[in-house]
Amino acid sequence: MALQSTPNHTQTVSGWAAHDSSGKIVPYIFKRRENGVNDVTIKVMYCGICHTDLHHVKNDWGITMYPVVPGHEITGVITEVGTNVKNFKIGNRVGVGCLAASCLECEFCKNLQENYCDQIQFTYNGIFWDGSITYGGYSNILVADHRYVVNVPDNLPMDGAAPLLCAGITVFSPMKDCRLLESPGKKVGIVGLGGLGHVAVKMAKAFGHHVTVISTSPSKEIEAKQRLGADCFIVSTNDEQMQSGKRALDVILDTVSAHHSLGPILELLRVNGTLAVVGAPGRPMELPSFPLIFGKRAVKGSMTGSMKETQEMLDVCGKHNITCDVEVIKPDQINQALDRLAKNDVRYRFVIDIAGNFKL
Ligand code: NAP
Ligand code: ZN
Repeated sequence: MALQSTPNHTQTVSGWAAHDSSGKIVPYIFKRRENGVNDVTIKVMYCGICHTDLHHVKNDWGITMYPVVPGHEITGVITEVGTNVKNFKIGNRVGVGCLAASCLECEFCKNLQENYCDQIQFTYNGIFWDGSITYGGYSNILVADHRYVVNVPDNLPMDGAAPLLCAGITVFSPMKDCRLLESPGKKVGIVGLGGLGHVAVKMAKAFGHHVTVISTSPSKEIEAKQRLGADCFIVSTNDEQMQSGKRALDVILDTVSAHHSLGPILELLRVNGTLAVVGAPGRPMELPSFPLIFGKRAVKGSMTGSMKETQEMLDVCGKHNITCDVEVIKPDQINQALDRLAKNDVRYRFVIDIAGNFKL
């Protein structure tokens, strides 16, 4: 049974929570645990608004424990360090993504793939080892186990880097898995040009690939090509364009948040190509068998990334100067931002300025 708080939850935190599936966010004062021996305490500076936050506040997946304090694209500065923590110091610029805890003992935890641990606990709407419900980054202070904290490279701004902690790692991990980091010159498709999709385009270009965006929004074509560097743009509702794109792509990443069929997307893959699905609509997606078997194609999923990969991703972004295109908002604009995100009206990520005018 999850507890709202436990006896060592003594730190008072100001945050923002949804209390029911209307999804309306209101200020919320709650308690966090004291900084334990393995913990660091973080003054939150920025938190991105991921579409997963929207799925949670609206209970799209039927798993939300209210009140929910969303937020797993967190950047901030360390203010306290536990006695077992050797790799972080007070004042470090750090990030926290989706993961809050894992068992540390299973084959996945031991092989640096703790994102696939079946005991995984998330940064919000999870149940931490002490029995308390986890609360995310829409809050001014976070207490995190240091094993799930990463360093933000000095050259990356904290607002533009925040969405890398979820959007960035979620697209980086399957790209790495499909060997896109070491073999340039592939034809890569990105379905859905939103928070995940836009950073996927930037990464795939930085890794030397030919990138096709597959989108429902013709209005995104010019900026996809001119600002993000995409080579081709296919409007997925235009049959002619979809037909002419058949059997062209080596790897496709599907980042779409809404119900859709994978059939027409699979047709864009060459024989033996791979479709990696990271978007998570509430309803099952259609997976027709013909485009699968006629093209010997594979569909696989991917869930965020490991902590080692997350640090690698941030370092790669630091090297290539990759950040997210963000619209920075104040906490009292969160509801407006969630409404606009639901309407696909954001270029390309809202980021909440949690700490106000705080400077490092
Ligand atoms: P987002 O910013 O809202 O982007 C999603 C994009 O999907 C939109 O920009 C839009 O792109 C496209 N889209 C929206 N409605 C559509 C529809 N009805 N039909 C076809 N395309 C549509 O969302 P996000 O933050 O990138 O997240 C995307 C999804 O990934 C969410 O479901 C989220 O929960 C999931 N996610 C999964 C993981 C993971 O670990 N696997 C991690 C983070 C997020 P166009 O305008 O270009 O069509
Ligand atoms: Zn996310």
